[in-house]
Amino acid sequence: MSGDPTAESPGPVLTIKDLQVHYGLRRRRHRALRGVSLSVAPGETVGVIGETGSGKSTLARAALGLVRPSAGSIVVDGEEVSSFGTRQWRALRRKGVLQYVFQDPLRSLDPDLTIEASLAEPLLLAGATREEAAARVRAFLTRVRLTEDLLDRLPSELSGGQRQRAAVARALVTEPRLVILDEPVSALDSANRVHILDILKELRADGVALLFISHDLGSVAGVADRIAVLYRGELVEAGAARDVVNAPRHAYTRLLLSSAPTLHSAPVGRAEREALRALLRT
Ligand code: ADP
Ligand code: MG
Repeated sequence: MSGDPTAESPGPVLTIKDLQVHYGLRRRRHRALRGVSLSVAPGETVGVIGETGSGKSTLARAALGLVRPSAGSIVVDGEEVSSFGTRQWRALRRKGVLQYVFQDPLRSLDPDLTIEASLAEPLLLAGATREEAAARVRAFLTRVRLTEDLLDRLPSELSGGQRQRAAVARALVTEPRLVILDEPVSALDSANRVHILDILKELRADGVALLFISHDLGSVAGVADRIAVLYRGELVEAGAARDVVNAPRHAYTRLLLSSAPTLHSAPVGRAEREALRALLRT
């Protein structure tokens, strides 16, 4: 007998089906996500792009259990989590299979904890000893190109770029199967942005699945295997990153492309667009 076929081909680490999220009550009730379906396979990087207000953070919050869906299904690492209560979410988070990085590292790092304590915390929650945690924290520091002398500092004593790299290290120490990154590079200057994007590419090479959310197609294009485009709470296009960038089917995607790399700046010229496309070939 060959046994359980799913053992040979593990399912997606995240599967979202027909997700709806509403905010507000009664007359103020409005739908932030309508019928969104998306999956992330083990080791895959899926980019989600869309302008401000399109529902990107709502999608991240729903997948992390920070907002409750009004309909639809969310399966994380084989578990249907859409109806999870606080206690079940806490138990799932403790396992460390699902981690997150937000735009503002001060949301992922406790301002009152040293970098060492912040990085060790998820390991201690998952049951590691202090010694194991200390060793693991040091091993992951080098992966995000931080040095040990930063371990005694508070987040406020680091530069913005160092802080975000510490937040990425914190998300990695438990060796999660999936990391959800909501605008991880949007608050950084270009040198630090490149730095974090390089680290994300290495993660992808190491087989960590990433859901990489950004308003900036340029940031996502060089990292993602697939790209999904959110527009007013709906997925209007999804496909291989190469196809979405080179042959966008939806007019909104074409608009995003024409205004990349930064949606809120003036549209870029042909040369820059070519440079963006070249990213996909590297
Ligand atoms: P994005 O991350 O793409 O900018 P969001 O997911 O933050 O978009 O927001 C999607 C929509 O939901 C927007 O119209 C926003 O105003 C609304 N929204 C987001 N958070 C809340 C909230 N806590 N309460 C009410 N409305 C919200
Ligand atoms: Mg957002």
